[in-house]
Amino acid sequence: MAIATISPVTGEVLKSFDELTPEQLEDKLARAAAAAAKYRLTTIDQRVEWLGRAADNLEKDADTVSKLIVTEMGKTYRAAQEEVAKCVHGLRFYAEQGPGFLRALPNEAGSVNAKQTYVTYQPIGVVLAVMPWNLPMWQAMRFAAPALTAGNVGILKHASNVPQTALYMEQLFRDAGFPEDVFQTLLISSGRVEQVLRDPRVEAATITGSEPAGKSVATIAGQEIKKVVLELGGSDPFFVMPSTNLERASDVAVKARTLNNGQSCINGKRFFIHADVYDAFLALFAAKMGALVVGDPMDPATDIGPLATESGRDDVDAYVADAVAKGATVVVGGKRPDGPGWFYPPTVLTNITPEMNMYHEEVFGPVAQVWSVSSLEEGLSLANAHPYGLGSNLWSEDQSERDIFIRDVQSGMAFINGNTTSYPEIPFGGVKRSGYGRELSDLGMREFMNAKTVWIGDDVDA
Ligand code: NAP
Repeated sequence: MAIATISPVTGEVLKSFDELTPEQLEDKLARAAAAAAKYRLTTIDQRVEWLGRAADNLEKDADTVSKLIVTEMGKTYRAAQEEVAKCVHGLRFYAEQGPGFLRALPNEAGSVNAKQTYVTYQPIGVVLAVMPWNLPMWQAMRFAAPALTAGNVGILKHASNVPQTALYMEQLFRDAGFPEDVFQTLLISSGRVEQVLRDPRVEAATITGSEPAGKSVATIAGQEIKKVVLELGGSDPFFVMPSTNLERASDVAVKARTLNNGQSCINGKRFFIHADVYDAFLALFAAKMGALVVGDPMDPATDIGPLATESGRDDVDAYVADAVAKGATVVVGGKRPDGPGWFYPPTVLTNITPEMNMYHEEVFGPVAQVWSVSSLEEGLSLANAHPYGLGSNLWSEDQSERDIFIRDVQSGMAFINGNTTSYPEIPFGGVKRSGYGRELSDLGMREFMNAKTVWIGDDVDA
């Protein structure tokens, strides 16, 4: 895939970049390793000061960066502004909480014959981040902010269609005062990730992306015995039970399915509606999906911009065509528009069956699958048959249903009466083929730290 900014609105190539030559890549890896040796010795107070400055600088640049995100991947300007604001918040969160997360944790010394014993958290060195384009700044930031707070050095292989956002991030950290080479962007194709990950100077990797990409990175990391965090696909279930407020649930269902123009790993994609409220919910949901305005992402009247890439739109189109050919009912949308740009309308489908590809896979676009179920238990058994387990939603006022949902839904995150989203304050991640490991909070920061056990006995001469 060429490394270039290509307008999703027109298909025009706006700016192309040369890949790093082998010599340039070698130079960057050598610089990263040299930076890691020094950066680990900086104090946490110094690091969080730089982090705070990065937050302030990003806040000042918010408008420019938001427009850049719109240009590169086509989400609405409003959504891009929200993304940038979230990045500022994430930086400030780690600036404030990071020192506490790094504090050594004492253990009971007497029972292990020690005068003192504790766990100290230390950086591990150079960490490779392979990132996707759908939240081009936030995905990379939620790796970078905790990693730099921890004293690690980051190298970013971002998606090939968001190179300018990737380069902006490198500049942001440099301008904030972080030492040169503590955070570098590598303009390389995905085929060169293997070389970087196998390089002995690289200690670990995190990848957010598709299942095939995750499998490849995990295989290499396994062979090299390097730590890896996998944030992969999702096809989140969204359960609506009779006790809930259908207006609210359907509003959030629309938001869930259309956020980032429908390109979000989390957020409901499969909607399991109790039979008692199925007709009422479907009517509300379909009407609200059908009323959304598809168009220029910079126009404030637009609700949904184009999909980010041509191949992404082709994939969505193919999933819908396959489902319709095998008997799915199109309630709203379902027709790829003619004309320039990679637009796809909000689409609601029913009568989804296991023969259809979308039943088992992930549709990365504004397409909702809606089922009628006789109980939460029936919905859970359908939902849990899916190979992914990232987020999940329940809308219910019934405590026993909530308890069953929390206990039985196979997902890394369970949200009740609200939309699944990521916050720096709470852990984020999945189970099953959605991956493993956690991002954000203290857990995310410690994924790439050495929890070193320290045991100190009595002084020998005492
Ligand atoms: P993708 O093709 O896997 O790309 C993601 C990143 O991986 C890009 O930087 C890509 O580089 C790189 N990549 C692709 N194939 C690779 C390989 N074989 N080895 C190493 N790196 C490789 O994913 P996408 O289709 O652009 O993004 C959508 C997917 O990401 C969806 O499945 C979505 O659910 C998932 N996602 C998950 C999360 C989460 O937190 N769990 C968040 C966002 C998105 P190039 O661009 O150069 O190909």
